[in-house]
Amino acid sequence: GAERTKTVLILMSDTGGGHRASAEAIRDAFKIEYGDDYRIIVKDVWKEYTGWPLNDMERQYKFMVKHVQLWKVAFHTTCPKWIHSSYLAAIAAYYAKEVEAGLMEYKPNIIISVHPMMQHIPLWVLKWQGLQKKVVFVTVITDLNSCHPTWFHPGVDRCYCPSKELAKRAAMDGLEESQIQVFGLPIRPSFARAVFTKEELREELEMDPDLPAVLLMGGGEGMGPVKKTALALGESLYDKELGKPIGQLVIICGRNEVLRSTLQSADWNIPVKVRGFETKMERWMGACDCIITKAGPGTIAEALIRGLPIILNDYIPGQEKGNVPYVVDNGAGVFTRSPKETSRMVAEWFTTNTDGLKRMSENAMKLAQPEAVFDIVKDIHQLSQERGPLANMPYVLTSSFTSLV
Ligand code: UDP
Repeated sequence: GAERTKTVLILMSDTGGGHRASAEAIRDAFKIEYGDDYRIIVKDVWKEYTGWPLNDMERQYKFMVKHVQLWKVAFHTTCPKWIHSSYLAAIAAYYAKEVEAGLMEYKPNIIISVHPMMQHIPLWVLKWQGLQKKVVFVTVITDLNSCHPTWFHPGVDRCYCPSKELAKRAAMDGLEESQIQVFGLPIRPSFARAVFTKEELREELEMDPDLPAVLLMGGGEGMGPVKKTALALGESLYDKELGKPIGQLVIICGRNEVLRSTLQSADWNIPVKVRGFETKMERWMGACDCIITKAGPGTIAEALIRGLPIILNDYIPGQEKGNVPYVVDNGAGVFTRSPKETSRMVAEWFTTNTDGLKRMSENAMKLAQPEAVFDIVKDIHQLSQERGPLANMPYVLTSSFTSLV
């Protein structure tokens, strides 16, 4: 009944495509596992309740990752704890009331942060409110194998690390063993529970039924050398002597409209599909045989589940750097920034080196963790059960922080 329903507030921000995808993955898994027992709210709280700089993070992030050197400096200079702690403390003091108002509107029993900047301030507010012991607060890291230390906060009930490497970092940053869990990156259940065959998907997506297919993308924003790589593949996947294609190409440009319109107006000798932001990525991945992408954690984890060998052609400095050895050292893909080399490799995978493609596909499947999102929500459910009756009505009888000041 309604009185048993617990509220889960997922804090995210639309920087890149990854945080939202993880937030939706967790929401969907809660629904599948527990139905109406939980009411899930996914919120970009900062955007709605606070002023600059928090409400502007999305634009700033986009600007900085386009000018990678700027992002590199920002990432590394804010790594030491005394720098980001004092920065976030200043922001917290300034925005406490608004963040509090945000939390009070939803009255969550459980707060899940899927963003590196969303531990400190909500945890401060919970402390001020005397809610720390009543409200479950967990962090789900949405980076894969390297990340910014603001993800790690000793005040959380759990910190879910996608890889052993990040668990090691969390321990080094002062989290207790009991706070750390390694299940994998949360990926939308539609990936884990996909039931369609490649043949069915190709028919649905109007692709060639027989030609091997390569998927080319660059995260939610369509980043990296997508255009050059597409044009190089247009050459390498066309057999000039026989006058016919040896493969087909799917390009997903995400929110990069300029890229999409440029590629849509190009001339191709091979079958090509050019798309913008797609909401059914599991279908496109399921219809293809390999993928070319920047080293985004979401895209990598999804590709591994579908058993797609990965060519990584770029990475965002800082948080995505460690994803390259994660894929390459585990034999699930290769790294090259060269569109020429990329296109040559794909042509070989589709003709003379099909064994190499198959081996990498098997390695990819071994690395995949499709159940991670279910393991995470089950663990959160467990935590919330352990809280017991205290947690049922956490917001009754608590005086508001705003009334104290
Ligand atoms: N994505 C999507 N549709 C698109 C492009 C990307 O749903 O058209 C999803 C993709 O499946 C992945 C996420 O956006 O889940 C991208 O996350 P990633 O961590 O790879 O990179 P980011 O965009 O966060 O830098």
